[in-house]
Amino acid sequence: MSKQIFTYRERRERKRIRNAVLERDCHICRHCGIALTPCVWGAPRASNTATVDHYPIPKSKGGPFTAENLVACCHACNTARGNGESWSIPRPARASLSRQENPNV
Ligand SMILES: [Zn+2]
Repeated sequence: MSKQIFTYRERRERKRIRNAVLERDCHICRHCGIALTPCVWGAPRASNTATVDHYPIPKSKGGPFTAENLVACCHACNTARGNGESWSIPRPARASLSRQENPNV
């Protein structure tokens, strides 16, 4: 896949969507339940650095970068799946995304 080039406007919009997704998911990884730390520009990424993951439609299948198709995800989980591993933890139904229903919180 070729590297995408984003305009300033697109980058700003993606940042807004990303922050909205992290807020919605209470800054908790939707896969392993770890509390996420903010991604600091230029700093090395820790395993619990906040990232967003394309779900339910993966990026490789053309999943859009929208709040509906993104979930909060830690760097470790994002990297793990990037290596071809499948998720071992079933994801909660999207309609029931809430802090109460995550037993790891
Ligand atoms: Zn995780």
